Amino acid sequence: MLRLPKFDVKNPATVEEAVAMIFEIDGEARFIAGGTDLNPNMKHRLFTPERVVALGGIDELHGVSFGADGAARIGAMVSLTNIVKNAELSAAYPALCQAAKLVSSPQLRNMGTLGGNVMLDTRCQWYNQTYFWRNALGYCLKKDGSKCHVIEGGSKCVAAASNDTAPALMTLNAELEFATANGRMRMPIADLWQADGIWNKKIPHTDLLVAIHLPKPAANSRGAYGKLRDRGSIDFPLFGIAARLDFASDGSIQDASLCAVALQARPWPLKKAAALLIGTRPGEDCFSAAVEQAATLAAKQCRPMPNIPGDHDYRHLMVPVYTRRTLHAAADGAGPVHHV
Ligand SMILES: Cc1cc2nc3c(=O)[nH]c(=O)nc-3n(C[C@H](O)[C@H](O)[C@H](O)COP(=O)(O)OP(=O)(O)OC[C@H]3O[C@@H](n4cnc5c(N)ncnc54)[C@H](O)[C@@H]3O)c2cc1C
Ligand code: SF4
Repeated sequence: MLRLPKFDVKNPATVEEAVAMIFEIDGEARFIAGGTDLNPNMKHRLFTPERVVALGGIDELHGVSFGADGAARIGAMVSLTNIVKNAELSAAYPALCQAAKLVSSPQLRNMGTLGGNVMLDTRCQWYNQTYFWRNALGYCLKKDGSKCHVIEGGSKCVAAASNDTAPALMTLNAELEFATANGRMRMPIADLWQADGIWNKKIPHTDLLVAIHLPKPAANSRGAYGKLRDRGSIDFPLFGIAARLDFASDGSIQDASLCAVALQARPWPLKKAAALLIGTRPGEDCFSAAVEQAATLAAKQCRPMPNIPGDHDYRHLMVPVYTRRTLHAAADGAGPVHHV
């Protein structure tokens, strides 16, 4: 049986209290939302915080609202289940709700939050293991060791961003609102990431994600999420891809965005592939041809590594398949794309 290490728990009532409590002790402290990732990671001794600051009692972190300008504000503590069940969000941001729907299992979506999903640790098959297992291997760069088992001689960790909602939020140009030791700040989600699997965010783990803001979608915007995984009932992505297509009044695509995940430390925007679709019209040959070109280009730009489970050559072969299917699903207003 894997046991949690010892830690104390704080239950702040406000965002400001939560940030203060993180800095109150000399040792490491971590925020906990649904705990569906932090708890297993603590049992594996990947994190051994002396303090855990629980976010559930902070009203400001809960709830979904829409502003007069049509933009959405989603509190960081909104559960993935409540994202999926929200009809207004599903209509406005289909790729996000489809991605949330494909995260793990119903129980974990009930507990797991959107904020926790954005702030999720990167994953690697040599890292997400018990202490005993990692000890037998001699650990690795990301935790307790000095070498990488994915890239021989590598000096940089390439553990993979594996959060399903991250690529969807990237295609939707989400902005993240944080509370930090120096006050509040907002940043585009595209600016959050860095190419370092040890910590793939440009902000410290002591910054508290308060809310996810989504701009009003274009008048005729559609989207979809495609996810390759071993077991449809629970698994993390072996490859994930989100698409947004905005249509002009004549039915042609006036803007497009594509972003992939489960490749390397950062979610991976596919700007050139998305640009190929602009000006084409679903139902016409030019659209089908552009989708094929985009799928081929995606396969060139996405190079799965043996960092997460699943044969990386197979994952690579699936890149154009999932890109193609996800683009067609977005155009048809269908999705998500996955197998069960
Ligand atoms: C068996 C299993 C399968 C899973 N499958 C998937 C999957 O398919 N796809 C997927 O994306 N995820 C998956 N997960 C991971 C997890 O369930 C989800 O990512 C979930 O959304 C995490 O949210 P949480 O609220 O539980 O986060 P927590 O576990 O509470 O926190 C995760 C991390 O984020 C930090 N954090 C949480 N909230 C905040 C905040 N507001 N501000 C700053 N930092 C914060 C925590 O400190 C921690 O480091 C799986 C987990 C398990 C155990
Ligand atoms: S890629 Fe995997 S094995 Fe290599 S340092 Fe990162 S977690 Fe460890």
